[in-house]
Amino acid sequence: MTQSLWLDTGYPRDSFPQAKGHLKCDVCVVGGGLSGIAAAEQLAAAGKDVVLVERDRILAGTTGNSTGKLTAQHGYIYADLLKKFGKEGARTYYDVNEEAVRRGREISGESEARPTDSYIFSQTRHGTEKLKREWDAYREIGIQGSYGKETELPFPVQASLSMYDELQIHPFRFGQRLARMAADHGARIYEMTPVRTMDFQKRVVSLATGGTVEFKELILATHYPIEGLRGLNIMKLHVSRSYIAAAPTDKELKDQYISVDSPQRSIRTVNIDGKIYMMLAGGSHTAGMKKETDEEYGRLTEDLENLFHLKGITHSWSAQDPQTPDMVPYVGRISDSLPHVYMASGYRKWGLSNSIAAGKILRDLITGRKNPAIGLYDPGRTGFGSLLLQGLKVNGLVAGELATGYVVRLDSPTCTHMGCKTRWNEGDRTWDCPCHGSRFREDGSVLEGPATKPLDL
Ligand SMILES: Cc1cc2nc3c(=O)[nH]c(=O)nc-3n(C[C@H](O)[C@H](O)[C@H](O)COP(=O)(O)OP(=O)(O)OC[C@H]3O[C@@H](n4cnc5c(N)ncnc54)[C@H](O)[C@@H]3O)c2cc1C
Repeated sequence: MTQSLWLDTGYPRDSFPQAKGHLKCDVCVVGGGLSGIAAAEQLAAAGKDVVLVERDRILAGTTGNSTGKLTAQHGYIYADLLKKFGKEGARTYYDVNEEAVRRGREISGESEARPTDSYIFSQTRHGTEKLKREWDAYREIGIQGSYGKETELPFPVQASLSMYDELQIHPFRFGQRLARMAADHGARIYEMTPVRTMDFQKRVVSLATGGTVEFKELILATHYPIEGLRGLNIMKLHVSRSYIAAAPTDKELKDQYISVDSPQRSIRTVNIDGKIYMMLAGGSHTAGMKKETDEEYGRLTEDLENLFHLKGITHSWSAQDPQTPDMVPYVGRISDSLPHVYMASGYRKWGLSNSIAAGKILRDLITGRKNPAIGLYDPGRTGFGSLLLQGLKVNGLVAGELATGYVVRLDSPTCTHMGCKTRWNEGDRTWDCPCHGSRFREDGSVLEGPATKPLDL
């Protein structure tokens, strides 16, 4: 059975009640991951009456299953951002994420975060060329860092690129602190409260508990938006899954690392109440496309042993994240025809800083403040070309699954979202949908959206 190190070592949980009856609020936030909590905290602090409803327990989704790097260094990205969005767009992306890191530093306690530099490194000529391009981009944009050959890693690297003064967090404890701050500002947080249906015209969501929430504005912070078909955002998100393993060690790394080569590896250590763990992440693939996920855990185990001489993995887990066609998340109004419905998604596995940035963007949109990132993160920005490209990639898959799934895999249950055939994930013991990333527990209950209804097993 897989288990996240973070979810195993959080603070004692605050008990948030289940929502029942009829609630009214200014802003209803659906989803209690870092996105939803950050938005709730920002909006409640700005004086809005906020209700946050979470399907399970807060932070147990992707946030509690991440690697916990709170940094504006999002792998190899700035060279591409410069090409796509110019210097101003790339600088805005860096600024809002760096501001999120600063805010993380301000609000976190010692057992939730630790200052660190972030590094990208290469071990091949191709990777080194990428690193040089990224370093050129850093200098053009004005990002503080350095290019070199040395790291503290116990294996040779060809080149490395650092970003100074970033943060490592315990994402569960950090999120718990932010949730407490949101509640202190007056946000009402409810757990074990799945949203089942939404009526955008009447501005009311119906809960699986039988209750309802009437709202003026609605934020879908459900990771993959549960109502993605509106505005065709559903066509534009590609979901990728990765694996993480942790083993006890006696050596703490000073900094945190990610490779640019394939297979990509993300590396950090964490000291939790005096016990140090080495964490290794990698093995990306399209969500729901792999049955033998044990193989990915096996590769991480081998790497921990071969590269770091560590045995005895105590925790291993996996998670997935959607990404947009142009690398920048979708945060803002879901479509022009629904100006009171907002989404926050598409973080490309860099959603910790982006969630905090999203919280501020959503607050500024809803309270009418200026924010240079509103345009950059606008879900309506990606035009027809990118829509078509990603649409072909994702919806080609949907069409394929719909056309062939029923015939060749009669044994696997049908996803309750759009009728694709799910696949059994041996390593995590879940039913995974390859079309839009929904996941279900062995008993058929929903583990991850966009599906909201259990499997008919
Ligand atoms: C393997 C991996 C490692 C990562 N590591 C990092 C990292 O080191 N640094 C970084 O910046 N980013 C990282 N990320 C990305 C980051 O973890 C995510 O982008 C971020 O946590 C997303 O937060 P979220 O709040 O949008 O989603 P989640 O944390 O998944 O929260 C969504 C919540 O919505 C709830 N929900 C869904 N449907 C409903 C419903 N119908 N009703 C009510 N509630 C609902 C869910 O239960 C869930 O709690 C990583 C991602 C992966 C996959």
